[in-house]
Amino acid sequence: MLDNTSLRAALALLMCTLLVLFYFITYRTSRSAFAGWWCVTLATLMGGSLAYLTVDSAHARWTIPLGHASNLVGVGCIWAAGRSLRFRHTPLWWLAVAPVVVAPLAALDNPGHTIMPAGEIFLLALGLMLIGAAVEMGFAARAVLAGGTADIVAYRRSLWSLVAASAMAGGFYFARWVAYVLVGPDQAPYSTVFGNESTSVVLIVVMTTVAFSMSTLSDEQHKLELRDLAARDGLTGLLNRTGFLRLADEHLARHDGEESQVIMADLDHFKAINDEHGHAAGDHAIITFAAVCTASVRVTDLVGRYGGEEFILLLSGASLERASDVTESIRTEMAKLASVEGAVLPTVSFGVCSVDGSLETAIERADAALYKAKEAGRNRTVHHAEV
Ligand code: GH3
Ligand code: MG
Ligand code: MG
Repeated sequence: MLDNTSLRAALALLMCTLLVLFYFITYRTSRSAFAGWWCVTLATLMGGSLAYLTVDSAHARWTIPLGHASNLVGVGCIWAAGRSLRFRHTPLWWLAVAPVVVAPLAALDNPGHTIMPAGEIFLLALGLMLIGAAVEMGFAARAVLAGGTADIVAYRRSLWSLVAASAMAGGFYFARWVAYVLVGPDQAPYSTVFGNESTSVVLIVVMTTVAFSMSTLSDEQHKLELRDLAARDGLTGLLNRTGFLRLADEHLARHDGEESQVIMADLDHFKAINDEHGHAAGDHAIITFAAVCTASVRVTDLVGRYGGEEFILLLSGASLERASDVTESIRTEMAKLASVEGAVLPTVSFGVCSVDGSLETAIERADAALYKAKEAGRNRTVHHAEV
């Protein structure tokens, strides 16, 4: 059986190797918040393991509390990494709370005697933060759309393996905490099942699993970000035509059997705005219209820039009446903004068609209705059924 010192040294070496690999291969290419937090975790857990190596030396009085603090920062960063997956910010001072409380307590608790001074609070804090990380990652995994492409499936799978690893590590620390509180660090089962040797073995297994899932996750996240970038229009941030058409099929499949509406919109006499007020004023009008459209629909509806100053909306699971309400509220809002002094905003024409069969046909019909709206004098909505 390996002794405690060798195991701690092996653990520190593993963290060091993982840190170098992860930093150069994953973090440098993705630069994601998630990968950044994970690098700090690896570095601080390595620091913790190195500090624990000095348990039998005269310096243990201060190195063990420091090791505790370092490990608490490391596990706090796992929690912050989980939060970053849901785009939630973690103030740095939150991560300082546990180390600042635990380290002085550990220093007072005769650290020269045992490697686990102040174990009651140290182990509990580790367990709580690991469970917190598992919960954050679980929510992030649940938020990923069901089904989806191979990239999305791989992304979700690596998230769930992280949830499992964090929950297992959290459970292990909780069990350790219970044993510590009930029997103390010198008695079985703490000394036999939850002692430093078995903890090192568990950590070696967990860290290897987690590192592997983390790098898959970062890769997939990076790919999804690139794909999202390719699906969006640079000026407005709306979906571009390709992005819209791809998502529209998914949305319609999800609302199979329900009524859905396609709306085509085209800004009126837009060329005149460019000619009279310049291209920048034209761009501003396009950006404003995009924002008004987005604000006028539900988050589950789709808005895309179909080309130049032509836009497309898909209201899935919506009636024709709701489509009319949406186009009217967009027209009203544009008119309101246009009445502000100095604003150069066009009126807008709309063509609406219910999806009955293929999306392509509905788009063609909505476009035909839009053409009628232009012919009839612009600044209005025409339904395909009326054409
Ligand atoms: P109608 O009412 O019949 O739609 O008239 P219109 O002038 O809007 O129609 P037309 O399609 O002839 O003009 C569209 C103009 O939109 C032409 C093009 O230069 C301009 N345009 C397309 N994309 C952009 C853009 O990104 N920025 C700006 N500023 N102008 C654009
Ligand atoms: Mg136009
Ligand atoms: Mg046009």
